[in-house]
Amino acid sequence: MNKILIAEDNAVNRELLRELLEMRGYAVVEACDGEEALRMIDETQPDLVLLDIGMPVLDGFALARKIRENPRLSSLPVVAVTAYAMQGDREKILNSQFDGYLSKPVNSRFLTEELDRLLVKQVNQDLSQNQASGTQPRSKAQAAREG
Ligand code: MN
Repeated sequence: MNKILIAEDNAVNRELLRELLEMRGYAVVEACDGEEALRMIDETQPDLVLLDIGMPVLDGFALARKIRENPRLSSLPVVAVTAYAMQGDREKILNSQFDGYLSKPVNSRFLTEELDRLLVKQVNQDLSQNQASGTQPRSKAQAAREG
């Protein structure tokens, strides 16, 4: 089951997203600000993160940057969820560290499309990594351990 982290400071918005995700069979974890989200990503290892842009402590842009700075999280899909309606914001978001963008109120069909697109891509990456590692010769350290 895929696990989605919702980072959002508004309780009503968190609840709406949780319902949409759980109806589709996703496991959901929640964080109320950017710093808590970073901790939860570390503790719960979600498959994808939905990030509100306007959040206390660390906003969505700062959090997305921190995620990308961490080599272990470099392939974690990060989707911005924002009410920003001004012209240019979508471009600003897509030109920064985000893999996708959803505007509020979140349209359930667009949400499904984004999740399908980003999680399928991740599955394909995992498969090709497994195939690659399956054909790799044993390392010296491995050979020493295994004899
Ligand atoms: Mn907010």
